[in-house]
Amino acid sequence: MTHAAPDPHGTAGTSVSRALYDRARHVIPGGVSSPVRAFNAVGGTPRFIRSAAGAWLTDVDGREYVDLICSWGPMLLGHAHPEVQAAVTEAISRGTSYGAPTVPEVELAEEIVARTPVDRVRFVSSGTEAAMSSIRLARGYTGRDVVVKFAGCYHGHVDALLASAGSGLATFAVPGTPGVPESATALTLVLPYNDRAAVEAVFAEHGDRIACLVTEAAPGNMGVVPPEPGFNGFLAEICRRNGALFITDEVMTGFRAGKQGYWGIDGATEGWTPDLMIFGKVMGGGFPAAAFGGRADVMSHLAPEGPVYQAGTLSGNPIATTAGLATLRLATDEVYDHLTSAGDTIKAAVVESLAAAGVPHVVQSAGTMFSVFFTEGPVRDFADASRTDSAAYAAYFHAMLDAGVYLPPSAYEAWFLSAAHDDRAIQTILDALPAAAAAAAAAQSQTKETR
Ligand code: PLP
Repeated sequence: MTHAAPDPHGTAGTSVSRALYDRARHVIPGGVSSPVRAFNAVGGTPRFIRSAAGAWLTDVDGREYVDLICSWGPMLLGHAHPEVQAAVTEAISRGTSYGAPTVPEVELAEEIVARTPVDRVRFVSSGTEAAMSSIRLARGYTGRDVVVKFAGCYHGHVDALLASAGSGLATFAVPGTPGVPESATALTLVLPYNDRAAVEAVFAEHGDRIACLVTEAAPGNMGVVPPEPGFNGFLAEICRRNGALFITDEVMTGFRAGKQGYWGIDGATEGWTPDLMIFGKVMGGGFPAAAFGGRADVMSHLAPEGPVYQAGTLSGNPIATTAGLATLRLATDEVYDHLTSAGDTIKAAVVESLAAAGVPHVVQSAGTMFSVFFTEGPVRDFADASRTDSAAYAAYFHAMLDAGVYLPPSAYEAWFLSAAHDDRAIQTILDALPAAAAAAAAAQSQTKETR
C-alpha cells in the first residue's frame, strides 16, 4: 500500500497555480493584487482561478471548488449569472466609458435610494474611495476635523482609517502601517467595538471637534461581530446630540446581510438613520463600483453643487452600474430567504462537527452573513476576535480546500454564500466538514504538545 506524502499546505495537484505564482511574484508584490489572496495567513499556494459559474470556481489546474468567498461578497447571485451577463454584454456593445452621465447610473442611484434611507448617492470605483470621500464630506459639512472609528472595523485602505488605537481609550491613533504618517491618523480616534462607555468618554472629551463617527453597520472584517442590541441607535443618538455625522459602512453588509443591508435589519426596526452610508461590493455586481450617500442637505455640499471636491474618471461607469443594477433587480426576497436557509444548514453542521471534534468555536451572524471563530464566544470586539486559533483555522482551511471547498484564506473573514449555492454545493460543504474539524483538532493538540 502506498501512502500519500504529508501535504500540510494542500499543494497537491496545484502545479499550474504554483508556476503562475512564481511568475506573478516576479512582477507583482507577493504575487497578488490584494494581500489576503496570497494565503499568507494559512500557508500554501494561492489558487489561480480560470473561471467561475454559479457557486463554483475552477482553478488553472482544473480543480473545482465550492466558492465561499464570492469575490469577498459581491457575487450575491453567484458567478456568471446569465441575466447579469446579458445586461453587461449588451452594455459593452455600446462602448465602455464615456466620461459623461448615463441612464444606468441614474437607475442604480434610484434603486439604492429606494432600498435604503439615503436621499442621494455619489458613485466611485471602490469602497476605499467611498469611505475616504464620506469622511471628507463629513469634515467639510461640519467644519470639524476629528474622526471616530472602531478597532477591527475596516473601511478600505484610507490613510486616516488605517489606524490602530493608542495606549489609552481616548488617545489619538497611531498609524496601522508604514507609509501612513502620524499626521494622517492624528485626528482619528479608535475605540473598542460595542463599548458604550468608551464612546461616551470620547464624546465627553472631544465632542465639539468630532466631524463623524464611522462604523461598519455590522462588522464583518474581524469575522462577523454584530452590534449589541441598540448599539447602532446609541451611536446615531450620541452623534446627533454632539453635531457629528453618523456614517455606517455597508460595503460588505449592503444588499447582502439583507435586502436593505444591515440597516434594514437593525435601523429600520430600532428607528435609527445614518447621516451617510457607504456602499460597495454587491451594488457593483462584480465590477469596480461603490458609492456613498445620505441626507440631501449633507450630500448637497459635494461638488458641483457644493464646495467639497470629489471626482473620478470611471465613477458611475456604465458597465459597472449596469451590472450592479441587474444584480440588485434580481436580488429579491427569495434570494435572501435562500441565503438564510442555506446559511442555517451550514452553520448547524459546522457547529455539530466542531463540537464532535472538541474544537472550541463560536458561529456569529449578522443577517445572512456569518463567520466561524475558533475560540469560545461570544466575540464582542476585536480583542475577543483576536483570540481565534489561527493555526487551527489554517488546518481547517486546507482540509476544506482539499475537499473542494474554498473558504476565505484568513480566520477573520465572513463566509459568503450566493443564490447559486444549491443542494449539490451545500452537500459538498457538509461532506467536507467532519474531516476539516478533525484537522483543526489535530492542529490544536499539536500546538499544545509543542508548548
Ligand atoms: N468597507 C468595508 C466594510 C469593507 O469590507 C471593504 C472591503 O472589504 C471596504 C470598505 C473597502 O472596499 P474596497 O476593497 O472596494 O476598497
